[in-house]
Amino acid sequence: MPDLPPLPPGTIIGILGGGQLGRMLSLAASRLGMRTHIFCPDADSPAFEVTPRKTVAAYDDEAALAAFAAAVDVITYEFENVPAATAQFLAQRKPLRPGAQALAVTQDRLAEKAFLASKNIPVAPYRPVASIEQLHAAIAELGLPAVLKTTRLGYDGKGQRVLRDPADAATAFAELAPRPLVLEAFIPFSQEISVVVARSLSGEVRSYDPAENVHLNHILATSTVPAAIPPALAKHAGMIAKAIVVALDYVGVLGVEFFVVPGDSRPTLLVNEIAPRVHNSGHWTEAACLTDQFEQHIRAILGWPLGDPARLADVVMENLVGDEVTRVPAGLDGSTQPHLYGKSQIRAGRKMGHLNRLLPRD
Ligand code: AMP
Repeated sequence: MPDLPPLPPGTIIGILGGGQLGRMLSLAASRLGMRTHIFCPDADSPAFEVTPRKTVAAYDDEAALAAFAAAVDVITYEFENVPAATAQFLAQRKPLRPGAQALAVTQDRLAEKAFLASKNIPVAPYRPVASIEQLHAAIAELGLPAVLKTTRLGYDGKGQRVLRDPADAATAFAELAPRPLVLEAFIPFSQEISVVVARSLSGEVRSYDPAENVHLNHILATSTVPAAIPPALAKHAGMIAKAIVVALDYVGVLGVEFFVVPGDSRPTLLVNEIAPRVHNSGHWTEAACLTDQFEQHIRAILGWPLGDPARLADVVMENLVGDEVTRVPAGLDGSTQPHLYGKSQIRAGRKMGHLNRLLPRD
């Protein structure tokens, strides 16, 4: 990795994506004296509220992309579905951090699993599925239950079906095809945990403590830290996260989701998914760490030294989904840090904000 000088205060950071993650990245950048320019096709984006520089254009609008690249010093993104062509176009003009390889690997479940498996990182057994015949063959090999997923553009449980009975195969296939699919063995996990990890431009790696995640209706409901897992398993999760960012030659913050699988003598870990961005299960770091995940990402992409990820308190992050957001400000107490995303409309299933509740230590 070349020893590039750190980018100075006043740097203009281009951010692709205008959701709450882009908004929180922009706020963290501002606190460091940076300026941000958000690129998003949706004119009604929460991130636009916090910076005067914005481009409302499609991700394939080359004139808009070229003007955006000319107006910024470095480019990052808040979501993994930035089209590959967009990433390449921008990377030819300005530093793109994390790089295009991280996007290519993480926006396709099959590419991601193949990459992880090639690095000896454990993932759930899986088979590619391009036809109903392949689905039947995959079921014969992996058994049931199993989970059929689209390889691209799945999030919050969208684009996936659990198959419990051979008769489910045809319906699930009809619902999800003709998109490329992957069948995964159903993992009887005891817990879901995640690790947010960062790698700097000079190759320094720091990870946060694992969070224990609970989903409701396929949407993250809470992240609790510390996770109720043995210390050795927490350490192992951090080591896997580190191996992933090193293998990807990654710059920035990355989220790694794991299944904890009960074993005869001790639990083991499987990686479910990685996300090349700040992660919802890392929002607790804003209240419980000196350097939160948003500042950490900005420091990394600027070529700055990373901050300390040590956790200073026990914490529960609670997402405010749909009209749960109307609980704020009622019910707030002095140990709760509220974050609202400024979204103009409340919709069922939409992430509207979150609460970080610090827990008293005994
Ligand atoms: P994903 O979009 O892959 O993160 O999946 C969303 C959620 O579905 C996960 O957080 C799990 O709760 C569940 N899930 C996904 N894949 C599997 C699997 N192979 N076995 C059991 N549960 C799964």
